[in-house]
Amino acid sequence: MAVSIKSEREIELMREAGKILAATHEELKEVLKPGISTWEIDKICERIIRGYGCIPSFKNYQGFPASVCVSINDEVVHGIPKKGRLLKEGDIVSLDTGVIYKGYQSDAARTYGIGAISPEAEKLIKVTEQSFFEGIKYAKAGNHLNDISSAIQAYAEKFGFGVVRDLVGHGIGTEMHEDPEIPNFSQKRKGIKLQAGMTLAIEPMINAGRYDVVCLDDDWTVVTEDGSLSAHYENTVLITDGEPEILSLAK
Ligand code: MG
Repeated sequence: MAVSIKSEREIELMREAGKILAATHEELKEVLKPGISTWEIDKICERIIRGYGCIPSFKNYQGFPASVCVSINDEVVHGIPKKGRLLKEGDIVSLDTGVIYKGYQSDAARTYGIGAISPEAEKLIKVTEQSFFEGIKYAKAGNHLNDISSAIQAYAEKFGFGVVRDLVGHGIGTEMHEDPEIPNFSQKRKGIKLQAGMTLAIEPMINAGRYDVVCLDDDWTVVTEDGSLSAHYENTVLITDGEPEILSLAK
């Protein structure tokens, strides 16, 4: 499948979807505290998204039962919200969610510490976030996809962290997952040439230990194999002829 180039009208809709998703994350962040269940976080997330007149894109996506993936500590991604699963002081928690606005999608993830967290956890969250920004320095028309992937990997590995191999970012538009796949690690090939109008969900998943991951028996939750902490940071990004536009980040 060719990578889609969005028209001005489509970009406008993706901007709006991104703005709503950014606001959703800002509101969700405020409810995180020790004692809240991941189930409650999901209910709040769905209410926020529907309140904006959007559809929570994760809900029922390939059977996923919730509007947000809540992944705690060694959980990398796709944690399923549950009534008995409570956040506690010292946890790190990633929230990954998406919206559909008038048929157009936005996808973004953030990782937060709950109360006081270890210096290692703090560093992991910061480096994961910064690795996204290192990657998008190369996200402009004329560069190649692998320029982004390599920059993310080089930055995260400088700190001794593991860059997850089994999960990657993706194009996004009317579908949540469109071409191309966007690895967070260097490829042998330079990948597609970036063009203005491409919209990409770039999402480093970084482990404090080794990069290996395994999927739990629930067939969704991905955890680090060595039990180390993991962080996730993602935004939907518009490629332009100049600086990339981060659609899902609060201005
Ligand atoms: Mg994504």
